[in-house]
Amino acid sequence: APAYDLSQPLDIDFAGAFADATEEERAHQLKVRAFVQDEVLPVISDHWERYEVPMDLVKRLAELDLLRDGVDVPGLPKVSPLAEGLAAMEMSRGDGSVATICGVQGGLALQSIVMLGSDEQIEKYAGPMARGEILGAFGLTEPTHGSDSVALETTAVAATRDGVEGYVINGEKKWIGLGSIGHITVVWARGEDGQVHGYIVPQDTPGYEATTIEGKVALRAIHQAHIVLNDVFVPAENLLPGARTFKDTGRVLFATRLAVAWSAVGHAIACYEAAVAYAKQRTQFGRPLAASQMVQERLTQMLSVLTQLQLLVKQLTRLAEAGQLSGPQASMAKYSCTRGARQIAQIARDMLGGNGILLENRVARHFVDIEALHTYEGTESMQALIIGRDITGMSAFA
Ligand code: FAD
Repeated sequence: APAYDLSQPLDIDFAGAFADATEEERAHQLKVRAFVQDEVLPVISDHWERYEVPMDLVKRLAELDLLRDGVDVPGLPKVSPLAEGLAAMEMSRGDGSVATICGVQGGLALQSIVMLGSDEQIEKYAGPMARGEILGAFGLTEPTHGSDSVALETTAVAATRDGVEGYVINGEKKWIGLGSIGHITVVWARGEDGQVHGYIVPQDTPGYEATTIEGKVALRAIHQAHIVLNDVFVPAENLLPGARTFKDTGRVLFATRLAVAWSAVGHAIACYEAAVAYAKQRTQFGRPLAASQMVQERLTQMLSVLTQLQLLVKQLTRLAEAGQLSGPQASMAKYSCTRGARQIAQIARDMLGGNGILLENRVARHFVDIEALHTYEGTESMQALIIGRDITGMSAFA
């Protein structure tokens, strides 16, 4: 059994990992923690400020076999859902952009191919994507369809070009991570049968025009693209055979929801730790902030919420391991964790006073990055509507 540090009964690792993680899961978590400490934290604020994707770190993520985000790839060791969650937590505890790069490459693009692709597609893409030789994007959201992406308007029509059977894709996509700096995009489009299907589109295909979205105030070290698809032709072999309806797209998103919840916990830990450290060293009115009753109450609030989130997401991850996690439960993980992390980030930002808005103190970066998590992969309100429908039996979406 893992050793408990009884001198630190409220150690944040208690609920998150030590309680019942296996040695292997713990080792995976510590591997990510070391990478974040040694390689991410020293450079990430500069990348964030300069609006630059840290490509050197992407290479390192692949070398450390972290880029696939725990997705099953033939020939590579299986990663348990808890190990994958702990990895997402540690990664986001360092930086949200780096965690999102893994989420897009592994959790979304690679996952779509592994879950819904043919044997040939898996053979062609999975290994190279895990090794970072192919960077992938997941193109679902459109400028006019975000929360209601089920109503997407991009179309795919069967066509033959130069004797090759395939599909011609037309439409627009917005907010697509790695969509302008990667190699392929899994594009979700409506086929002639009226259903949503997935197509692997190489980003250098004629008619695929991607512009990096500028001016973001969150997750500045990963780029999202606005993509225009103008008569983009892909051969029939690029259709994901397992993606028959929008429900199949939903299966990919369901698989990533817990990872986003774990990431939110990581952001919250970073904020909590910064607040504790600052309160201990900052002196006002002749004593450390940490000696003030009000500050202690706020730290208590932060740690209590944090521990509750860790226990919730860990328990739901155990359910996922057993194949018993329901859609509304996955939604509850994301809903609770991003909501709680926002609260914690807000308190921490305040507790650092003016220093809390300086990039060098890290809290401000987490504070704004958590806003993106709050929105992507289903906003808080969308998760609430999924949970609410389950509670009441009534759909309030439209
Ligand atoms: P809208 O759907 O317009 O929502 C606006 C507001 O209205 C929200 O608060 C929402 O909760 C609320 N709302 C909407 N409908 C209802 C309703 N019926 N009842 C009550 N409230 C409602 N997409 C991809 O496909 N691939 C990616 O890689 C990707 N990466 C992203 C990265 C970032 C940083 C961001 C910000 C977004 C990314 N997205 C990506 C898109 C993301 O999934 C969408 O932004 C999200 O689903 C919300 O859609 P929207 O922005 O169009 O907001």
